Amino acid sequence: MTAPRLVVELVPATSWFENLRSLLAPADWDRLRRQTYRAARYRCEVCGGRGEAHPVECHERWVYDEVAGTQTLSGLIALCPLCHLVVHFGYARTVGRQEEAGRHLMRVNNWSRREAHGHVQAAFATFERRSGQHWRLDVSWLAGQGVEVRPPAGPDLEELSGEVLFEVLFGEEDQPVPRLSRAERRRR
Ligand SMILES: [Zn+2]
Repeated sequence: MTAPRLVVELVPATSWFENLRSLLAPADWDRLRRQTYRAARYRCEVCGGRGEAHPVECHERWVYDEVAGTQTLSGLIALCPLCHLVVHFGYARTVGRQEEAGRHLMRVNNWSRREAHGHVQAAFATFERRSGQHWRLDVSWLAGQGVEVRPPAGPDLEELSGEVLFEVLFGEEDQPVPRLSRAERRRR
């Protein structure tokens, strides 16, 4: 079986931080995400689509080592808002958009409802297991991007962890919406 294109990636509830934006100076975060959007030509790197209000969003990829207890940043990718919603399925549930996210997951992976459901269940089981341990962040990937990491600001960041942070930090995105040709508009 080949790996699915779109996968649910739930950040453990015990990860004290899940979002780069809070660790970086705003100008650095802007530079990184704009660079990511441009490299992807403002298209989703999973499904090739674009959103209505804004074409793509920036998603951090993490690799988890459950034995070492490390959560390592492996890079950034551009995702359309719908793929981003699927990846953060916990957030999708919180805001009552799980049906929409589930349909997109089925469409992108060409999965039956049952296959999509099984994948989501497995992702939540992994989330539960990983939430039983503490995580040490490794964001050394940023050094290679010439970016300096700031210590987390404010006491409430530690309370807001995992999926909860998503809503707070992804509320708005300002980025230019490229003009779409008529053919592209028809495709969407
Ligand atoms: Zn997409």
